[in-house]
Amino acid sequence: MTTDVYQILNEKFGYQSFKSGQQEIIEAVLNKEDVIGILPTGMGKSLCYQLPGYMMPHPIIIISPLVSLMQDQVEQMKLFGEKKVVAFNSFLLPNEKQQILHQLPKYKFIFISPEMFMQPKVLLALKRTEISLIVADEAHCISQWGYDFRPDYLRIGEAFHNWDRPPVLALTATATTQVIDDISRFLHLQNPSTIIQSLDRPNIRYKSIFVETVEEKYNKILNQIQSFEGPGIIYTQSRKKADEYALKLKDEGFRVASYHAGMEPMDRTLVQQQFGHQELDWVCATNAFGMGVHKSNIRQVIHDHIPSSIANYSQEVGRAGRDGKDAIATLFYSNDDEDMTVFISTNDFPDRSQINLYSKQENPKDLVNDGIISETTYRILSYWLEKYSEAETVQIMENLRHEKIRQIYLMKDLLTNEQCLRNQLVSFFGQVLSSKPLHCCSVCGINDKELLKPMAQQRSKDKKHRWNERLSLIFNREL
Ligand code: ADP
Ligand code: MG
Repeated sequence: MTTDVYQILNEKFGYQSFKSGQQEIIEAVLNKEDVIGILPTGMGKSLCYQLPGYMMPHPIIIISPLVSLMQDQVEQMKLFGEKKVVAFNSFLLPNEKQQILHQLPKYKFIFISPEMFMQPKVLLALKRTEISLIVADEAHCISQWGYDFRPDYLRIGEAFHNWDRPPVLALTATATTQVIDDISRFLHLQNPSTIIQSLDRPNIRYKSIFVETVEEKYNKILNQIQSFEGPGIIYTQSRKKADEYALKLKDEGFRVASYHAGMEPMDRTLVQQQFGHQELDWVCATNAFGMGVHKSNIRQVIHDHIPSSIANYSQEVGRAGRDGKDAIATLFYSNDDEDMTVFISTNDFPDRSQINLYSKQENPKDLVNDGIISETTYRILSYWLEKYSEAETVQIMENLRHEKIRQIYLMKDLLTNEQCLRNQLVSFFGQVLSSKPLHCCSVCGINDKELLKPMAQQRSKDKKHRWNERLSLIFNREL
């Protein structure tokens, strides 16, 4: 690589060296290849397009799935002094959109939502502009295997037909072969270079703990957050449960709030900001609290259920310890948990009768308005039924449902089979664990003492003293 790259790294970003994986991805991008870049969360995926952006002659387009994420990234770039950056999304007024579309070459970095990207007018304007690179950030949203699946993402690839398009860089932290295949296939990538970094997070200690009852589960969660430092996230499955936990923990004196898709967008943003600004220590959340979480000092992630897949679990625990310092991921599960997870993660998959209903309906959106199918079901069906027959769609949905259930069983097996949790997490992504940290997981055995809060340390010392006293009474000697 030329020295230019290091010069830009230093002058524009103020960094001395690359984090692992960045340089390889940047090299391939500058080589004008299609690239799939997989780095764990927090390992600097943004730099992989920002740096080449400064070395390429024309604007680069970044397709980003969440408006909040997009605003965040644009703000950050502006903070770094970049003026030629813009977010093209539904927040803009029609005349603002018009203005931007007329001046595309003036920008260096154009962030855009997938919905906007697919609008014929926008796409036409993009096709008429010289563009150096298209980035699909959080590209796993293209894959039907994760909860982040966004049918709008699937359509991105369609835009590439009949377009002598610039190279594409797809970025994600999810590295299952299924997801990588989906990304490559649906984006119609041409012989993409796939660059994958080790997904192991040595500073995270993994714990999987079986509990008998709901009360025991709550008490153990409470004990966990009383004993170990936050800030942290408690992941649960229902909106009701998230609210319930937040109320109870508030009563215990914690600075805590809930976060889920049932809340007003303004309230959600507020919680995210308060958490980001250290005004809240705990967020009790459903999996809606996800990609937009930019907080490097999360010390704990707690689950009260069996997640719907190993990939999703990895994403959620991966939000802990992005600053590289010690973090704990604790999962409490009980016997009924897997049924609940199966129900929740297959609930939105349309069954045969819903598919039939949708096909017959003149205006299928009415089914959503009348409460017969959910918005998600509608989005899934509108995508598939546009491409496939009713019978084919029934088959596709059946296959997806089976696969979803299989993923849940793999997750459950990981938690319960008494093998090293870290090793299993890494192997799931087809990687080999090169070495185990001292504090690995609850199967290998971890000593948490040094991470205990000072008060909890005292409690644990007192307990030991009391035991020592009692034993010395029994044996009548000093221990
Ligand atoms: P990701 O998208 O992979 O989750 P980000 O691109 O948001 O990660 O980057 C995470 C953090 O790492 C940011 O604060 C960024 O400034 C920092 N970072 C990125 N590259 C480097 C580097 N080469 N050296 C030091 N810090 C870096
Ligand atoms: Mg990112």
